[in-house]
Formats: sequence, structure tokens, C-alpha cells
Amino acid sequence: MSKTVLVTGGAGYVGSHCCKAFSEAGWRVVVFDNFSRGWRDFVQFGEVVEGDLLSPEDLDAAFETYKPDAVAHFAAFAYVGESVEQPGLYYENNVMGTVRLLDAMAKAGTKQIIFSSTCATYGVPEKMPMTEDLPQRPINPYGMSKLFVEKVLDDYEVAHGIRSVKLRYFNAAGASPDGEIGERHEPETHLIPLCIEGVLNDTFKLTIFGDDFDTRDGTCIRDYIHVMDLADAHLKALDYLEAGGASDAFNLGTGTGTSVMEIVEAVERVTGKPVPRSVGPRRPGDPPALVASAEKAAQVLGWTPVQSGVDRVIETAYGWHLKEIERKTAR
Ligand code: UDP
Repeated sequence: MSKTVLVTGGAGYVGSHCCKAFSEAGWRVVVFDNFSRGWRDFVQFGEVVEGDLLSPEDLDAAFETYKPDAVAHFAAFAYVGESVEQPGLYYENNVMGTVRLLDAMAKAGTKQIIFSSTCATYGVPEKMPMTEDLPQRPINPYGMSKLFVEKVLDDYEVAHGIRSVKLRYFNAAGASPDGEIGERHEPETHLIPLCIEGVLNDTFKLTIFGDDFDTRDGTCIRDYIHVMDLADAHLKALDYLEAGGASDAFNLGTGTGTSVMEIVEAVERVTGKPVPRSVGPRRPGDPPALVASAEKAAQVLGWTPVQSGVDRVIETAYGWHLKEIERKTAR
């Protein structure tokens, strides 16, 4: 009989791609989402419960009905700027929501959780590439809310024996190669979708947030990791916990940095169209470079990214955007 994974935030960007990977690997997938920021058309790979993490009743009912063997926890707010303006929203939703989830797990006896963490928990790193043992000093409430959850998870292991894998993503990007699900945010603030917007929409112009950083071309360097590679890492983390693996944290990145200008050029290369742009001021809180060391995930989880070349990331992202336009016109 297949095992069941409850996926909070399974209607979101990374969550929905992970549901696809879990379901293809034979897991029974149950999405738990309140659809405040998720998308109903992204729920294609299992059952769905409409529920809220802040509601113990909703959670208890879901655990009682589905008796999940493990939880994959994606549901969270993830806009840095919004977190600075409304920290309470982030501590309530991201931290308290997780506390409620863990209480429901403790009550139901579900002892394994994969947590969607972030490189934003490191703040401005002291060295590159970034290893998991670097000090975690977030510079905004979003990163702090994720770091709090990492700590809460450790406390729930001591108290309730819940083992956790914390996956610290670098820059999730790309889309499912079949074009069925992809990166859709409202509002969209991420670099690659905005470059594609520039290609597809005559009236849109990208602003490059600063070209005076101490980097090879003056623009910020990030580590773009294909969302299907992220999904594969989650699957491997589930297997790791199922096999009795100890709680741990892993960076998920490629080990290669790409600058904003290099992304713009790659989008132009892949699509064959110009990305209209201008240079604006730096965005507050943007570190010059964030590049993962992906060695620990390779060694312990046996995970290596295979789809994460920048051109492949952009090709799949662009493919999904074109299909979105087709779907909208067909409606
Ligand atoms: N960026 C930019 N213009 C935009 C959006 C992003 O220059 O309109 C830059 C941003 O400063 C960062 C990189 O692109 O260096 C990736 O930003 P994104 O918001 O995609 O991800 P983040 O690194 O914030 O998680």
C-alpha cells in the first residue's frame, strides 16, 4: 500500500511541483491549502483539503481522515518586502501556522516532516559558496520567520520525536517541462518571470536593481535551481526520513552563480527576443551574491541537480508562460 504525504501549500509554486514528483514516485498525495495564495488549477496530483494552518480543527480533521505518514510543509508567505511592512503577518502565518501543524502532527502521531526553508535564513553570508554551518542571521522578517520554524522543529523533536529535514532553497526557477504547472505569483516580483514578461508584453520594462555591486558585472549573483530538481530533492528527503535518517538541514542550489545581467542575456538567447530594461537603484536587503554549496545534499541525500542549467530553467519557464497564454485565449 502506498504511503501518504500531506502537502501544506501544495497549490503553490514549489509545492505543486513537489506533488507531481511525489505522486509519480507512488506516494498518495493530499494537498492542504487555504488557497489564499495558491492556485486551484495547480492541484493535479492528488486529493485536496481546503483548510487553514491556523485552525486546529481543520488540521485535526485532515490528520484524522488521511492519517499521513509524513508532511511536506510549503505553506507560507514569501515576499521579503511585505514581511518588512507587516512582520506580524509573517510571524503569525509562517511561525504560528507551523506550530499548529506540529501540534496536530504530535496529536496524530505523524513523526516526519520536510520543511521548506530558505537561504534567506543566512542573511549576508561570510563566505561563498555557502555551507550549512554558516551562521544564520536573517536580515528581514521573512528569513527570520523561516529560521524560527527551523528552531521550533528541533524543539518538537525533543518533545514529540518528530524528525525533520529542513531544505534551504536558493532561487527556485523554471517550470514543469510539460507546461502544466509553473511559476505564478500575484504580484510577480521574481527576476525570470519578469524578464519573460518583458519578452511577451510590449509595455513592460524590467528594472535591474543596481549595477554597482562588487560582482563580475556589477549586478547581483544568485544560484538558480530548477523547481523539478527541488522536487527531486524533496522526494529524496522523504525517502531519507522513511529510512530512519536523522533530522538535518540541507542547502538546495547548484553551486554556480549567475548574475542578473547574465539571466537577462540568457532570456534573450533562449527566446530570441529582446528584454527591455533599465537600471534602477538597489533593492533594500539584497546581498550581492548568494551561491550554495550543494555538497552536503549530494553526500547525504544522493541528490544532484540535473535540470538546472540556466538555459534549461528559462526554456521550461518560457514554455509554461506560452502555454498559459494559450490556456487563457482558449477560455
Ligand atoms: N531583480 C531585479 N529586478 C527585478 C527583480 C529581481 O534586478 O525586477 C534581481 C534581484 O535584485 C536579485 C535577483 O534579481 O538580485 C533575483 O531576485 P528574485 O526576486 O527573483 O529572487 P530573490 O533573490 O529575491 O529570492
